[in-house]
Amino acid sequence: MSEFSRDINVEVIEHSRDVLKIVLHNVPVKIANSIRRSVMSLVPTLAVDKVIIFKNDSIMNDDMLAHRLGLIPLRTSLDKIRELERNGGKVSLLLSIESKNDVTTVKSSDIVSRDKDVEVLSGDIDIVKLGKGESIELEMEAVVGRGREHAKWSPVTVSVVRGLPVIDIKDPNCGEKCDDCVDACPKGVLANQGGKLVVVDRYSCTVCKLCEKACPDNISVDIDESSSLLYIESVGQLSVDEIIKAAFEELYRKFSELYDAFKVMA
Ligand code: SF4
Ligand code: SF4
Repeated sequence: MSEFSRDINVEVIEHSRDVLKIVLHNVPVKIANSIRRSVMSLVPTLAVDKVIIFKNDSIMNDDMLAHRLGLIPLRTSLDKIRELERNGGKVSLLLSIESKNDVTTVKSSDIVSRDKDVEVLSGDIDIVKLGKGESIELEMEAVVGRGREHAKWSPVTVSVVRGLPVIDIKDPNCGEKCDDCVDACPKGVLANQGGKLVVVDRYSCTVCKLCEKACPDNISVDIDESSSLLYIESVGQLSVDEIIKAAFEELYRKFSELYDAFKVMA
């Protein structure tokens, strides 16, 4: 109980469309981990799940080609994803290309979506090469899924949580003597400012303890698991704001189902 008796607050370290780094003060790692898992495996996205191949002259076999197409991220809004999920809808995309001259690299930009609200996230992804006169003709079906079924539906490239690093310096005015711990740190966490040793970037510390090894008498590093550092990087289909919102909605839905099950028992 004591873990939840203190004030919870969120400190934003980095926030852009695709990156979120936050400190959840007084939220234990074991609780923040459920957010991390929900982000990775419960947030719905759209991905190609079925490929109907009419013609494939390339050197890549059909299975491999279908697998590649499944991994190409598709962009649409969260509202559209929810709508498709409610209706069991599918989105059709086409790839029809012939290499008329020399060698042609088939790219994701050659994919044509039949739904104006759905597009490939990047047109720069190489799919396969075609020799002169070779062609590919196929149709894809994209459906809504979740990372727990297959990684192609996961909306993030990174979703990690860990405790907060605690760097304890017994005598900070030791910096006149040397720079050993500053040089040992691979993340630039420590700095010698006019003879005073200071922590300049605490949240970049990976707790590798190299500084502690360099000077065990004056410096020690530990982890405080009563607060959490959460780092998320989006693949790009959804913004990190949409991902976090959807992750909480999915957790809420799961807890509601659990609560309803308890009510049935009562
Ligand atoms: S903590 Fe140790 S290694 Fe680091 S500046 Fe002080 S004396 Fe040097
Ligand atoms: S534990 Fe590693 S990353 Fe953290 S301050 Fe020390 S050397 Fe740098």
